[in-house]
Amino acid sequence: MEALRRKIQQEAVGIGTEVVKVDMFLNHLIDVPLAREMGEEFSRRFDADDIDCILTVEASGIITALTTAMAMGDKPVIFAKKGERRNIGRDVYTAQVYSFTHQKENTIRVSRSYLKKGMRVLIIDDFLANGAALRGLIDIVRQAECTLVGCGICIEKGWQPGGRELRQQGIRVESLAIVKGIENGKVIV
Ligand code: 5GP
Repeated sequence: MEALRRKIQQEAVGIGTEVVKVDMFLNHLIDVPLAREMGEEFSRRFDADDIDCILTVEASGIITALTTAMAMGDKPVIFAKKGERRNIGRDVYTAQVYSFTHQKENTIRVSRSYLKKGMRVLIIDDFLANGAALRGLIDIVRQAECTLVGCGICIEKGWQPGGRELRQQGIRVESLAIVKGIENGKVIV
């Protein structure tokens, strides 16, 4: 997606050789027109697939999940919660996810009341690196006996193995921008 590629080229900052910082338009300050455009693009790519709900994980995935849901005609959005919460109850699907940014293992949880057997689910997230977040969400989709339609990712880091491994398993992964690497703090799209 050209607008996202341009934004990454102009504003994203590479930290070390691994982390792409996009606080200035996606992870802290949100560029709302860009978020809307990303949702519309996912809607174009997945609209024919008869989606029942969009699944993501808190926190940053929620933004694009929401704009995609709105572009698809106000589909429901479910976001997996991280960590123990008193208000979600015990009747949950869980998966273990190693967090790339926080470098620790999280348990993600989705209430069984909301993700129902037979639903056609689209997963959305902001980044794809090693694929742990997507694998955890896919695991929950399978526990719930839902159909996974595919995964929509805003920024895929092409040098990390998540995207390749998931596609090799036959999972449809659509990324709006694929970054090739980081050179001297500059993010190469
Ligand atoms: P994975 O689970 O695929 O290794 O990493 C994806 C998750 O980690 C995403 O949900 C995202 O929040 C976070 N993440 C991974 N790499 C980056 C990165 O380079 N920059 C930012 N901002 N988040 C990342």
